[in-house]
Amino acid sequence: MCSGQPVTLVRVCVVRVLKDVLPFSEFLTDAFGRRHSYLRISLTEKCNLRCQYCMPEEGVKLTPRSQLLTTEEVLTLARLFVHEGVEKIRLTGGEPLIRPDVLHIIAEMRKLEGLKTIAITTNGINLARVLPGLKKAGVDLLNISLDSLVPAKFEFIVRRKGFHKVIEGIDKAVEMGYNPVKVNCVVMRGLNEDELLDFVALTEKKPLDVRFIEYMPFDGNKWNFKKMVSYAEMLDHIKQQWPNLEPLPGDETGTAKAFRVPGFKGQLGFITSMSDNFCGSCNRLRITADGNLKVCLFGNSEVSLRDFLRSGASDEELLQIIGAAVGRKKKQHAGMFNISQMKNRPMILIGGLGGYLRQTSLSGLSQTLPKQRRPLQQSLREHHSQNDGPKNFSTANLLFSNKDGTSDQLTHTDAQGKASMVNVGDKAVTCRTATACALVILGPKAFGLVRANQLAKGDALAVAQLAGIMGAKQTSSLIPLCHPLPLDHASVTVELQEEGHMAVVMATCQTTGRTGVEMEALTAVTVAALALYDMCKAVSRDIVITDIKLLSKTGGRRGDFQRTS
Ligand code: SAM
Ligand code: SF4
Repeated sequence: MCSGQPVTLVRVCVVRVLKDVLPFSEFLTDAFGRRHSYLRISLTEKCNLRCQYCMPEEGVKLTPRSQLLTTEEVLTLARLFVHEGVEKIRLTGGEPLIRPDVLHIIAEMRKLEGLKTIAITTNGINLARVLPGLKKAGVDLLNISLDSLVPAKFEFIVRRKGFHKVIEGIDKAVEMGYNPVKVNCVVMRGLNEDELLDFVALTEKKPLDVRFIEYMPFDGNKWNFKKMVSYAEMLDHIKQQWPNLEPLPGDETGTAKAFRVPGFKGQLGFITSMSDNFCGSCNRLRITADGNLKVCLFGNSEVSLRDFLRSGASDEELLQIIGAAVGRKKKQHAGMFNISQMKNRPMILIGGLGGYLRQTSLSGLSQTLPKQRRPLQQSLREHHSQNDGPKNFSTANLLFSNKDGTSDQLTHTDAQGKASMVNVGDKAVTCRTATACALVILGPKAFGLVRANQLAKGDALAVAQLAGIMGAKQTSSLIPLCHPLPLDHASVTVELQEEGHMAVVMATCQTTGRTGVEMEALTAVTVAALALYDMCKAVSRDIVITDIKLLSKTGGRRGDFQRTS
């Protein structure tokens, strides 16, 4: 309801209502109605700094030049997205200002009808020098990263010199009339949290918008919850100095929570991707320097627009691919602890800020999606080590009455041979685990589509994985004489193996109880395999589910079992 609200709020409401009724590209609208009108393009993977929070100390492996987007490819994609309704493009990287053709790219983008804003996120090292060119080419907005106001600390954080050049760049941007000039500061405990008030003080005389960013986990940046300073903590600290800090109305899709100290020229904001995600209003898409479309900063699903471009795909075909990827965008990312476990690119290979991940298991282990061929046995070994089974797990623990650990007696029949549930009341409560596997031979067509995450029904691997976990939880309802038991943990992985075009499904279940979890593990892999079949059956019915078997079992009265064949 807008009535009775202050004027600014009413305006925001009207804009919102209008935006919701105006038509928008179906390709850029996701399943939750989010319209993606903001595109971030990474122009390069290279950088002249080595920020601790962004990249590992040893650097990152750069993509060969031939696989990076060319000037023409960048512009073709920009044109396509703007034609579909993108209104804002942010150029980022790596360090965008070290790309030699950056001014040409901006000048060409400026010609795109419908593109309202061109923004750049830069570390500021080259900014003072190229600023006149940027302004002339048509840059509207500047975000400059600066994490410390103490030169030595700046150098420690970015592992390079250049503090004064960044300050010069910020000053020059203000001089040239950019207002506000956004300053991005990643706040890390023990490093620069003590400078919060100094950064806010900068906004007194200058039209700066200092944005404090919660430290986010990416591959190789050694993220740790304790190093992250939350928005609430930062706000609390700043309010002790400026209790009258006033909140400013935010734009509907903005990532920052904005504030101003009354009387100050500039303002401040918090980017709370970790403690309070803004996924609900996310309107951002990203293209990496090697041409992959990422629909979520924290998602590892990517689709190579470059490959489609280079194979001569038409605009219509490209839009279908983009539309399918946007359509699969998840409602929100999975939270900071899950993100910190997941495989993603280092930040420098994504470029820019902004919130998903597949939740793998009841206790939050992240899914591994193999990118290269791995022999089945290796996958099995890795699965064991990943799932951190009980420490006494070893082949030496084979204490079965039969050689393979089974008994000659059937336990699920009574004296008359009728079905009977075993009374386990006298069994000891122990920690029990079981691991099972299944193979799904998909065939080349379904395999290719699953690998590229291009199935019309959606993300087959994620669906199969969740189906497996659901299956484990439902086992006693499906298998008549199976005891219901409390699952401590159920983890399911679905890995693709190029050789044989198959998916290897594995499940490990754990309980603390009087009876074991082998049926849970076997049900999990079976249900996951069936779900995968269901996801793929529209493209091929020549799919074979095979080799469903128990691989290992520990913690039972009769000792442990490990399959050797
Ligand atoms: N090189 C440019 C720069 O530093 O501004 C653009 C690329 S940089 C990846 C884009 C933004 O991401 C920067 O503002 C940087 O501070 C921020 N960033 C990088 N790693 C981050 C992390 N782990 N957590 C939060 N922000 C991060
Ligand atoms: Fe380079 Fe920017 Fe990453 Fe720092 S944050 S290493 S400046 S890309």
